[in-house]
Amino acid sequence: MKISIIGAGPAGCFTAYLLAKHGFDVSVYEQKSKIGKIQCGGGLTPSIEKVDAMFRTKEFKKTIVNRIASNIFRSLNNSLEIKFKHPEYVVNRIKFDNFIADKARKAGAKINLRSKFIRIKEKRQKIKFIIKQNDKEIEKETDILIGADGALSQVCKCIGIKKNLVLAIEARCIGKFKRNVYEIFLGKEYGKLYAWIIPESSSIARVGLFEEYNKFKHLIKKLNAKILDMRSGYISIDKPIKCYCGKNVYLVGDAACQVKASTGGGIIPSLIGAKILAKSIINKESFEKNLKKFKRDLYLHYIIRKVLNKLSDSDYDKLLEMIKNDSKIKKFLEESSRDEISFSKIPFRAKFLRYAKKII
Ligand SMILES: Cc1cc2nc3c(=O)[nH]c(=O)nc-3n(C[C@H](O)[C@H](O)[C@H](O)COP(=O)(O)OP(=O)(O)OC[C@H]3O[C@@H](n4cnc5c(N)ncnc54)[C@H](O)[C@@H]3O)c2cc1C
Repeated sequence: MKISIIGAGPAGCFTAYLLAKHGFDVSVYEQKSKIGKIQCGGGLTPSIEKVDAMFRTKEFKKTIVNRIASNIFRSLNNSLEIKFKHPEYVVNRIKFDNFIADKARKAGAKINLRSKFIRIKEKRQKIKFIIKQNDKEIEKETDILIGADGALSQVCKCIGIKKNLVLAIEARCIGKFKRNVYEIFLGKEYGKLYAWIIPESSSIARVGLFEEYNKFKHLIKKLNAKILDMRSGYISIDKPIKCYCGKNVYLVGDAACQVKASTGGGIIPSLIGAKILAKSIINKESFEKNLKKFKRDLYLHYIIRKVLNKLSDSDYDKLLEMIKNDSKIKKFLEESSRDEISFSKIPFRAKFLRYAKKII
């Protein structure tokens, strides 16, 4: 069976690896001339190690540029440090994406660079689609088409799927940073959702916020940082969407809105989405059915985001104070990975849901 995957990011290459390993004839089409996304903070929780054995190898460790011991949340008049039980990772996305792509190639997948997906021509027994290579439009035929082409997915556009996109404005900067700490800035001064500092070292960090460029400039000035290069890009921040689009067309990763809406982090969700997709194809099972639990978890992140979006500066001050004084919530945040939270695990969930219902 022929499988064509659009996009050679983590979602596309990991799906390609899992399916090629299982003996499928897999071709990946990537529009860029090189693999690797620079528009990313590269922050990963240790949950990555549970996704697949490849993320427990020395080769994977070579993609890590820094380890993070704690989060400091800063609101207008308060701050809170959460010390992680297990350190988090900051990866070099170029190395990370190439690491997965190499695994896919070794498993037998063919990765075609400079190959831009244009449109689906026909969906019958076989799917016919158009790829642009060297300014020439070429027709391809496949049994299964997978859109792993990121937030701005052309595959989504072709099948009429719309989702909410948020612009993440990020720059790699020189300055003075806390080497092993993620800093999160909350409140109106920091753009639409929040602002972040993800350090590579004590002098280089990835600094960003969402949507508002003036506030980004203000943040850079406040940190007394110097921009080395800008790396802005879109993230799909929305409720979970339909990922099986009928007639053997599937979506995965950012294209499928498989992102934690609470933070905008999508690397691990895109790998989890890829794993569920590969399993569904290999076992001839319903993708939507297999996605049910994962989508419920993503929906929780969406509710958390909706609640956070309603908070004022003084609400954030109070929230941090409340967490400081509540050992149960603090312990939960210290010990759990944001990639593994689910409704059943959150403390005071009934109270949280009542509150969420009231304010959103
Ligand atoms: C500024 C910024 C910071 C971020 N920071 C973090 C972070 O710290 N942690 C985290 O977990 N997530 C972060 N994210 C989100 C993360 O980058 C994505 O969730 C992740 O890359 C999703 O992987 P993907 O494979 O689905 O999509 P992508 O990595 O976007 O890969 C899609 C691929 O498809 C290709 N493509 C697109 N259109 C076509 C086409 N028509 N034809 C052929 N190929 C095509 C693209 O070139 C790309 O290579 C950040 C995002 C941004 C923008």
